[in-house]
Amino acid sequence: MKLKTYSLHNLTEIPQLKRLSKKQRQEIEIAARVIPFKTNNYVVENLIRWSNYKTDPIFILNFPTKDLLKNEHFEKVASLIKKGANKGEITKAVHNIWLQLNPHPGDQLKHNVPELNKTKLKGIQHKYNETLLFFPTQGQTCHAYCTFCFRWPQFTNRQELKFAMNKPDLLIKYLKKNKQITDILITGGDPMIMSANQLGKYINAILDADLSHLTTIRIGSKVLSYWPYRFISDPDSRDLLNIFKKVFKSGKHLAFMANFSHPVELSTEAVKLAIGNILKTGAQIRSQSPVLNNINASPAIWNELWKEQVKLGIIPYYMFMPRDTGAQHYFAVPLVKAWEIYKDAYAATSGLCRTVRGPIMSTSPGKIQITGVTEIFDEKVMVLLFLQARDTKWTRKPFLAKYNEDALWLDDLKPAFGKKEFFYEKTLRKILYDSNNIRKLEVERYYDDKKYMSSG
Ligand SMILES: *Cc1c(COP(=O)(O)O)cnc(C)c1O
Ligand code: SF4
Repeated sequence: MKLKTYSLHNLTEIPQLKRLSKKQRQEIEIAARVIPFKTNNYVVENLIRWSNYKTDPIFILNFPTKDLLKNEHFEKVASLIKKGANKGEITKAVHNIWLQLNPHPGDQLKHNVPELNKTKLKGIQHKYNETLLFFPTQGQTCHAYCTFCFRWPQFTNRQELKFAMNKPDLLIKYLKKNKQITDILITGGDPMIMSANQLGKYINAILDADLSHLTTIRIGSKVLSYWPYRFISDPDSRDLLNIFKKVFKSGKHLAFMANFSHPVELSTEAVKLAIGNILKTGAQIRSQSPVLNNINASPAIWNELWKEQVKLGIIPYYMFMPRDTGAQHYFAVPLVKAWEIYKDAYAATSGLCRTVRGPIMSTSPGKIQITGVTEIFDEKVMVLLFLQARDTKWTRKPFLAKYNEDALWLDDLKPAFGKKEFFYEKTLRKILYDSNNIRKLEVERYYDDKKYMSSG
């Protein structure tokens, strides 16, 4: 299959959209001014069931619709287009809406960006000791865009916001200096958008650098969902698979961290072939994905997703909470509900699916799992647990929040039993203040990672 990409400029060429009324198509064109839009022929022909497109999970995952925007935002853009406003005017209005959806797009860049000899390493984030995140410059887009994922820095083309790295030398130097790092996670966007040649340059540099402490190369990607032909019939598919083989032969582990939102993404012959081709290289595939209202917010879906993954040789890894998706009102699932989905989906699996941990919030203090709801002396509480922590002493430490059925995120939760702060808060303030040397006021706002973590 040959890739044909669809975005705002050629949206009308999508044959299946002819099923929609003119009004519905126009609404998509308006929403797509605000929510970055991109899909392709594989998705449109194989993953979306057009007969029920309005509730189809993959349609919702790829096509911006009126529902995803607040009414006032939609109307603003619609009225500008209607009165024939020029491009500059529309762009200005759209930027303004973006700012309202994500008021501090630049702040996230200040955190966890390491330095080497006083140079900020912009395409790197190092938060948890063992794992380094790496954003290669050429990997900052995807084969299709998820409507829940506002990858502001990448998609809005503001140079100063692009955290990415062009050459591997600084990365290698940093790895050499930091022997506690066992894993490098190559992420994006989607790093599998890179050519085998580009990806190979980074991987070869890592392998050639003789870093014995580095045991695992992870790649975070949604390509198996959006373009499995990357591992089948693209001109450089064979080269790509050879890179994976080379990692295996070098004695390191290649962990392909795949993002699957819905079982339908695992249903095509192409994805099965692609999974098989990856596994044959000696790499392993683990899966992680956010729980999203209107896409996968049900135990039956997750149960099927994990069971299908295990059947195909994929290891279920994380179930995430989404955050600040831009269309929070549309995609958000409360923490308690997400835990119920996880628990009920998990209850009907064998142990091989139970490698999956969730629901997890990637927050400033760490990766926090909602492990359950219980009662202690008549107070209903939520039991939380650090799976990863900014301060390793917090790892695996359970802590309690007052039960809150509507809470969507950590900052909606209060400590149980009338305590003023969670146990880690004082130390966290100090860590953030020291390491970033930023204003106290900024420190007190909680930053989450999910905003800029991608498929991986
Ligand atoms: C999730 C995450 C990682 C990887 O954590 P694992 O638990 O090892 O998968 C690394 N860095 C950041 C910033 C993360 O959010
Ligand atoms: S979730 Fe991943 S694949 Fe989807 S748009 Fe975001 S970065 Fe791209």
